[in-house]
Amino acid sequence: MKYKRILLKLSGEALMGEQQYGIDPKRIKEYAEEIKTVVDKGVELAIVIGGGNIFRGLQGVGQGMDRVQGDHMGMLATVINALALQSALEAENIQTRVQSAIKINEVAEPFIRRRAMRHLEKGRVVIFGGGTGNPYFTTDSAAVLRAIEIDADVILKGTRVDGIYTSDPEKDKTATKYENITFNDVLSKGLKVMDTTAFTLSQENELPIVVFDMNTRGNLMKIVTGENIGTTVNN
Ligand code: UDP
Repeated sequence: MKYKRILLKLSGEALMGEQQYGIDPKRIKEYAEEIKTVVDKGVELAIVIGGGNIFRGLQGVGQGMDRVQGDHMGMLATVINALALQSALEAENIQTRVQSAIKINEVAEPFIRRRAMRHLEKGRVVIFGGGTGNPYFTTDSAAVLRAIEIDADVILKGTRVDGIYTSDPEKDKTATKYENITFNDVLSKGLKVMDTTAFTLSQENELPIVVFDMNTRGNLMKIVTGENIGTTVNN
């Protein structure tokens, strides 16, 4: 195994599948099955889940809402997704714990770093909900933050594109994919991997990011076993 402890970032939108909103039960089951393959191999896995399939703070602002209020709604949306993912994983007989950055004790443990690490050592998948617990941040920032805190080897950003391209491959047919790229090159070429706050935090802490297509079966396992798929961002 190339990685022992992984932080997997899944966007809320990924859970929509073919739908326009909410959670697609088929998609979330597929993800749970993929996750099981690597957990069964003894890889320690933590997950940060987004909330964009339900609510984003900026969407609230667009509707005349206060930004902080909107972000609170967005963070709660991530908790809903975390619970859905927990159910899907438990249906595959994977032991899981949800830890939330905002206190919601009846439904999830609070985020406690040492406890999260203990769960991972025991082979439980830890799902971090509630983002960072602060407005004006994204779940990408939460993913990098938690990855550093739990001493993960890598952050795997599951997307619908299979890596980082010279330009948007959905618009530009001549776009080519990078297998490896440095943090500085991503910045100097103006490529988009994560928002700036998240990306800088990753760079400063020398935490590699792998961008890959989570919707293709077997990809998660390929990365874990060291196959060169997706794009790796490194120093
Ligand atoms: N959010 C927040 N603080 C955080 C993480 C998330 O306020 O630390 C809010 C923010 O409003 C964001 C929403 O939760 O728009 C959903 O998260 P995100 O947009 O990152 O989800 P994704 O795009 O990954 O589905």
